[in-house]
Amino acid sequence: MKREDVLRKGPYPLLIEGKEVPSLSGKTFTSIDPSTGRALAEVYEAGPEDVDLAVGAACKAFESTWRSTLPRERSKKLMKLADLLAARVEALSWIECYDAGKPIAASRAWLAGGPGTLEFYAGCLLGLSGETLDVSDKTLMDFTLREPLGVCGLIVPWNFPLSIALLKMAPALAAGNCVVIKPSEVTPLSTVELGALVAEAGFPPGVINIVNGPGDPVGSALVRDPRVAKISFTGGTESGKRIFREAADTVKRLTLELGGKSASLVFADADLDKAVAVAYTDIVRNSGQVCGACTRLLLEESVADAFLDKLEAKLRAVKIGPPEDPATEMGPLVSSAQAAKVRKYLEIGKAEGATPKAYVDLAGRSDTASDAFLPPMLFHGATNAMRVAREEIFGPVLTVMRFRTEAEAVAIANDTRYGLAACVFTRDATRAMRMVRAISAGTVCVNTGVRSSVDAPFGGFRESGIGKERGKEALLDDTQLKNVRYGL
Ligand code: NAD
Repeated sequence: MKREDVLRKGPYPLLIEGKEVPSLSGKTFTSIDPSTGRALAEVYEAGPEDVDLAVGAACKAFESTWRSTLPRERSKKLMKLADLLAARVEALSWIECYDAGKPIAASRAWLAGGPGTLEFYAGCLLGLSGETLDVSDKTLMDFTLREPLGVCGLIVPWNFPLSIALLKMAPALAAGNCVVIKPSEVTPLSTVELGALVAEAGFPPGVINIVNGPGDPVGSALVRDPRVAKISFTGGTESGKRIFREAADTVKRLTLELGGKSASLVFADADLDKAVAVAYTDIVRNSGQVCGACTRLLLEESVADAFLDKLEAKLRAVKIGPPEDPATEMGPLVSSAQAAKVRKYLEIGKAEGATPKAYVDLAGRSDTASDAFLPPMLFHGATNAMRVAREEIFGPVLTVMRFRTEAEAVAIANDTRYGLAACVFTRDATRAMRMVRAISAGTVCVNTGVRSSVDAPFGGFRESGIGKERGKEALLDDTQLKNVRYGL
């Protein structure tokens, strides 16, 4: 579909109390198409006064309807929204193709999972309940109630805009909360289109609100608002730390899904083709802008050269091009600014003594002329002490290191402030289980890549975050437990 077929004509609105509205200031910002560097759409920019209205609408909806809506009714509305979304997946995939630079084939594949997120929590919520406790004081009947928190602020990054918004929104609504969503200012368009479906799905006005604009002041107004009970944030670790500090003033609940520098450990007995395919995907998928990508590639010395020969051959053949081309595997990064950040790390790595190597020459190509395009790359000759092995780069580049023993591999893998995920490739099941125990990360994958799904919990250790997104854990994290002690 062409840009003009899927984009709105006027500025994209906010959603407050069931109505699409301009911001009170009337101010707009421009969303850029990274594949061309040109303006794609204008978006109304919220200010703290709009956030105030959105939170007020959410509070009103929570007290007047949503908290007392029967679980079965909440479930039906989520299912209805899933159906409406399914009918829009094609158009939404094109919107993210243009707004985030996602290759259309990949964009479709990601968004095809969106309705399933709503369906999963529509089912899960029906089993949500407290329990009866057999306490030692027999003059009491003791039980727990699982109650919603109230209003949740959902702050979303740009790398999987609508998918992550849905992963936050579905459990929050399922648990009986009302939400204010703050999409990334870099990729706001698809979430606005989700907002256009919520009235038809039967959600009362104010249950779902959307405010667009930058992290500061729009996101931080949500974080500071004492009426907001919880913030669910996905984004960079430094932003997450600031939110953690600001949320402390009102002792808010937090789910923080932050950055990563995950390791992939490839042992000599591994199925090398499988391990190569995963490393290739970690570089190419979403141009490497994936939090769970294993960006530190640890290779056992005896197979390192053979592994790299295979990986480099695949990288030379990757199809880089305009995201609207169905054959494109790798499009631009989300913005010129993100590509500039990656280029800076190439210089940092060189200065530290590592050697960045690119596998596709983009020079002189007219279809990848925007400076948001980068080729797939590897850092060779790196050590784990270098910044390119310690800091999240968030682009199509892996840092390659070699190891001789299992103990050395584990020590490198765990020598990081992050702890989001890890991969282990080996045919030795006993070793695989030793690695599962030894590696300190929220998700450990054996002989497969890090691909999260809605039905399994995902969330990092250490500075990769707090709490879990996905799985029934996300639903529980969006409730609070009340203990009732009833004297007999
Ligand atoms: P970012 O931190 O710049 O922004 C994320 C969101 O937070 C945006 O909506 C932004 O406007 C908002 N924000 C920024 N500062 C804020 C503040 N002070 N108060 C309130 N809101 C604020 O992140 P990004 O660049 O959009 O996304 C990339 C990052 O997200 C990477 O570090 C990546 O690892 C991380 N990420 C993590 C996961 C995960 O599950 N752990 C998933 C996807 C992305």
